[in-house]
Amino acid sequence: MPFTPFHMGAACAIKAVAGESFSLMVFGVAQVAMDIQPLYHLLRDDSIYHGFSHTLLGATLIALGAILIGRPLCQMLLRAWSPDPADPFLTWLRGKPAISWKATILAASIGTYSHVALDSLVSGDVYPFAPFASVSPLYGLVSMGALYLLLIGTGILGILGMVIVYMVESSAQK
Ligand SMILES: [Zn+2]
Repeated sequence: MPFTPFHMGAACAIKAVAGESFSLMVFGVAQVAMDIQPLYHLLRDDSIYHGFSHTLLGATLIALGAILIGRPLCQMLLRAWSPDPADPFLTWLRGKPAISWKATILAASIGTYSHVALDSLVSGDVYPFAPFASVSPLYGLVSMGALYLLLIGTGILGILGMVIVYMVESSAQK
């Protein structure tokens, strides 16, 4: 599996394009929720590692959890976070404290399904269609190194994109 934070790389690129229609925070919650099961197995030194959470069925349930539990949790955090008014970039980045259902559903579903897809590229024990089929059709298509590079690259491009969007939006308001 790509180390959990690397999954955020693609999300930064999506955020730069989709803006308020995509919640980066809900996406992050979905990533953490996805990797609770592998962490549990890792700590117990179990022979199975990814398991049910890394199937399309498991990802659907986790997406529902991220929507129903993650959204209020993220909104609570956003309300608690009041960036320094002298820092317009952080104020812009925080956005409105309310996360729309559209932004939540988009982030939770892209977050969980892309997680399964990315992990299944580099982990032989990810079976997206289990319990119906124990196949891993994407495994081995790219190397772990190439995947890390891709995620780091999209992350950098995404952050640059967000800065550009911020600059364009703030200059339009002047
Ligand atoms: Zn994972």
